[in-house]
Amino acid sequence: MLYVSTRGSLNKKTGAQAVIQGIAEDKGLYVPASIPKLPFKVEDMLDASYKEIAKKILLCYFDDFTEEEMDYCVNGAYDSKFTASDVCELKEADGVHFLELYHGKTAAFKDMALSILPYLLTTSMKKEGVTDKVLILTATSGDTGKAALEGFSDVPGTEIIVFYPDGGVSQVQRQQMITTTGANTHVYAVKGNFDDCQTEVKKIFNDPEIKAALKEREIIFSSANSINIGRLVPQVAYYVYSYVKMVARGVVKNGEPINIVVPTGNFGNILAGYMAMKMGIPVNRFICASNDNKVLTDFIKTGLYDIRPETRDFMLTNSPSMDILISSNLERLLFMLNGRDSDQLNEWMYSLENLGFYTVLDSESLTEGMKAFWGGYCVEADTIKAIGDMWKEHGYLMDTHTGVAYKVYKDYVKETGDETPAVLASTASAFKFAEAVGDALGLPKAADGFRAVENLEKATGVQVPYGLKDLDKKEIRHSGVVTIDEMPRTVLGI
Ligand SMILES: *Cc1c(COP(=O)(O)O)cnc(C)c1O
Repeated sequence: MLYVSTRGSLNKKTGAQAVIQGIAEDKGLYVPASIPKLPFKVEDMLDASYKEIAKKILLCYFDDFTEEEMDYCVNGAYDSKFTASDVCELKEADGVHFLELYHGKTAAFKDMALSILPYLLTTSMKKEGVTDKVLILTATSGDTGKAALEGFSDVPGTEIIVFYPDGGVSQVQRQQMITTTGANTHVYAVKGNFDDCQTEVKKIFNDPEIKAALKEREIIFSSANSINIGRLVPQVAYYVYSYVKMVARGVVKNGEPINIVVPTGNFGNILAGYMAMKMGIPVNRFICASNDNKVLTDFIKTGLYDIRPETRDFMLTNSPSMDILISSNLERLLFMLNGRDSDQLNEWMYSLENLGFYTVLDSESLTEGMKAFWGGYCVEADTIKAIGDMWKEHGYLMDTHTGVAYKVYKDYVKETGDETPAVLASTASAFKFAEAVGDALGLPKAADGFRAVENLEKATGVQVPYGLKDLDKKEIRHSGVVTIDEMPRTVLGI
């Protein structure tokens, strides 16, 4: 299995090389040269554990790893850090199958990939004979940051820097990050939004001066964002797993399709679902759910990707991990759908960077391929209502991101009448967004985010995830705030 860059560089990489590098030298994203087929028959896996399925899927994409190496990665990642019965959990409420992916250390789905990425990376370094230190540079809209910090904390040979938007994450998310321990962890608030953080991080990756300075010190960059295929591939596994479980439970017969609903920001999670389909999982429709930052909804409906300030503002919402306008991983989908035409892709990306928009209507194959996606969005008030109604009517607790997806799914069914059984990616614990969820349940306003967590536990009887307990009593270790311009110097300083 080799990886190619979306931007056309002729340099192909093995899985190990692509993970180490994070982003291609031509600024493109690595994509498998071809999507592998499922390595098993669904009917043979009905009793399989999450780890068994994950290992087999991962080996398809990292065929340069031995089975022993992959066992080491999978067993190290998916251990008792995960409190669900089988790493994740598939729960039904209101006829929808919620794939709960948030039972790891930091209580968001990012743990599914970021608990294994450090293993994939360090194993890759050993295989490739890389002795340089790896500096993980990460921009976060709230959840990636903490999951990456936990994954890499005190991992030998690595150093990690996380930039999060100041005022753009929930109080619980912020506290999780700034109390992180580990001698190799660094966290900074940035005076800007997530797009600013991500764009500057991508720039720093490709800054020749910084690269040279790092080289002198025998340090290389890598990424813990979903631009790294080591983030993306582990996520394919849980979509395959969910289909196997839907068949095992008799919700669908083997071969019958499901719909997949995903609360979407950077497009990594939903793209992993798409890759699972390309491997052979029958999927009828991908329902791409956005919050008020509905650039993807508009793109799916019109073929115009438009982030010009005269078209839309960047909005801060109660589902902050989806407050994103520049969805990085969409680039991978466009590449897979436009006949892997890098020249055309470069034109679109150039237009986005310089003019703030692009349109894909000139690509027939892409327009055709996009029909597998349906886009919708949900405003804050509707998110609150959806969470409240679900709790009242079905006793099921959703976080704000899952709430967005659930509401958009309801809209989809209303509009299309499509009753195909649906798996909905449930991406975070409600306690990470306890203030908004407390509102939704009609609880009195709490003094702060931490009291809101306690109140929510009392009111629902649902247990606070262990990673979120006593957060306010932890020592604050990272209080730095920087401007966007200061980010490169901050990195060099570290
Ligand atoms: C990151 C995140 C998302 C968005 O996922 P993408 O892969 O960026 O599309 C949705 N919900 C939560 C809770 C997240 O942390």
